[in-house]
Amino acid sequence: MVRIDILTIFPEIFEGMFTHSIMKRAVHKGHAEIVLHNIRDYSSDKHKRVDDYPFGGGAGMVMMAEPIFRLIEELKSKREYDEIIYTSPDGVVLNQSLANQLSMKGNLMILCGHYKGIDERIRETLITKEISIGDYVLSGGELAAAVITDAVLRLIPGVLNDETSALTDSFQNGLLSPPVYTRPAEFRGQKVPDVLLSGNDRLIAQWRHDKAVERTLARRPDILDKE
Ligand code: SAH
Repeated sequence: MVRIDILTIFPEIFEGMFTHSIMKRAVHKGHAEIVLHNIRDYSSDKHKRVDDYPFGGGAGMVMMAEPIFRLIEELKSKREYDEIIYTSPDGVVLNQSLANQLSMKGNLMILCGHYKGIDERIRETLITKEISIGDYVLSGGELAAAVITDAVLRLIPGVLNDETSALTDSFQNGLLSPPVYTRPAEFRGQKVPDVLLSGNDRLIAQWRHDKAVERTLARRPDILDKE
């Protein structure tokens, strides 16, 4: 059971994401709890402002320390968090190994930034891990938080229907996945490889491994090297 608290100024972005598919099943089956918090509710400003101009000038606004401190301190007073994550392009880039590690935690918090980012003092004091979802810049951390949440939840035993399915995905064993086929055995003249119809488990496993290695060498030799 993982509890993920998501801190955002746009909780409505997550509607739909967590009410469908795997994410919904994870919550429904009691494997996960996702709690959304609106940072704006913690602003002491009468207009519920959460951002202000950057010291030193320049373009863009900065998310203020106070509302985020108040929200995180309130959450921390209720339970212990294994990680307080800030989504940020300069964080460690999310990969399967990090998703595996996070899926074994009990309580996670994910803070979504906006504008030019958040006041550095939040990062220095409260954040325990900074995660990027890739070398590009998004306008807000919500999509990154959703990506992290999806990657983590599907790894929790019992969330996927076929318990072993997540174990044979790309990256899980330092290899990309082999090709997959389903019925019919012949579609518009294209046949499924004979070995997959042979019923010989050993040959099938060998074929899948060979194809996985071939595909990894062709597309992502960098992950093969790490094995
Ligand atoms: N000025 C910042 C970018 C701010 S983008 C910089 O150059 O590093 C606004 C917010 O979107 C960030 O605070 C962060 O929470 C989120 N974000 C943008 N790109 C992201 C990425 N690649 N991974 C994770 N979060 C990202």
